[in-house]
Order: sequence, then structure tokens, then C-alpha cells
Amino acid sequence: MIGSTRYAPISCSEAGCTGMALTGAARCWRHLEDPAGFLKGLRSSELAGAWLVGVDLPGRDLRKADLSHARLSGANLSRANLTGAVLAGAMLDGADLSRADLSGANMELAVLGCANLEYTKLNGANLQRANLVGAKGHAADFTGANLYYSRPGNGDFQNATFRNARIERAIFRRANLMGATLTGASGNANFESANLQGAVR
Ligand SMILES: [Zn+2]
Repeated sequence: MIGSTRYAPISCSEAGCTGMALTGAARCWRHLEDPAGFLKGLRSSELAGAWLVGVDLPGRDLRKADLSHARLSGANLSRANLTGAVLAGAMLDGADLSRADLSGANMELAVLGCANLEYTKLNGANLQRANLVGAKGHAADFTGANLYYSRPGNGDFQNATFRNARIERAIFRRANLMGATLTGASGNANFESANLQGAVR
């Protein structure tokens, strides 16, 4: 797989900045001179392994885009259409994915620590071994998702739906699952110290 090594990050050219330049640019998102032009020039066929930390892509059409191993920490992808996208191994920690559509997305081994997943659609998504520690997933929809060996510990999944999801070996330790729906969820998960008040199983 060349995705992870295709782009070697370089330092942002702004004096004193410790950030990395975005792929195809000389500066980080904060110091870009023409952010709108940068976003316009992004080709969804060239995003695998790209360094896109902190970018603003709300509502962007990224259907079936290959974002495997992309660095999207802190990015704003709220309401983005990521149905069928490949985000395997992608860094999405602290990213805003609220109300985004990730139905059928491949997010195996993705890092979603502290990401915002409020009202996010993850129906049928592959989240095997994904890191969801501390994610904020109020009313997120994980219907039919594969959460095998994922780590949603300390996450907030109040009123979220895990209907018919595969939760074998998922670690929900200290997660908030108040009012969550787990009907039809299969496999033995770890719910140690999780809040399951009002959850439907
Ligand atoms: Zn910078």
C-alpha cells in the first residue's frame, strides 16, 4: 500500500510555525494565503495519504473518495457526503463529522478520538479496530456497522443507534450509552462502567 507514504510532510514555511504544510501547499491551513483556492484545487483522486490537518470542508461531496491514511485531524467535515469513502487508517482525531454521511465507508483502523459524530450516519460502515475514544456521538447512527475490536471508550453515544451492528470485542468502557439502541447488535462487547440507563438491548 503506497497510500501512507505517498506524501512526505514538510514544515509550514511561515516563520515560527511548528505545523506541517498541507499536501500541495507550502503552508499549514492556518497560514494559507488562499484557502478557498486550495480547497478548489483539491482532487478527490489525490487525497490518499494527504496532509489535510485542520482544513474546512463542510458539506463537501467526497463520495467514494480514497482518503486512506489521510491526515484530517481537526478538520471540519460536518455535513460532508462521505458515503462509500475509504478512510482506512485515516487520522480524524478532533475532526468535526457532525451530520456527515459516512454510510458504507471503510474506516478500518481510523483514529476518531474526540471527533464530533453528532447525528453522523455510519450505517454499514467498517469501523473494525477504529479508535473512537472520547468521541461525541449523540444520536449517531451505527446501524449495521462493523465495530469489531473498536475502542469507543469514554465516548458519548447518548441516543445513538447500534441496531444490528457487530460489536464483538468493542470496548465501551466508561462510555455514555443513555437511551442508545442496541437491538440486534451481535457479539460480546466490554461495557465496564458504561452508562446504559434507558438503553434498549
Ligand atoms: Zn503554519
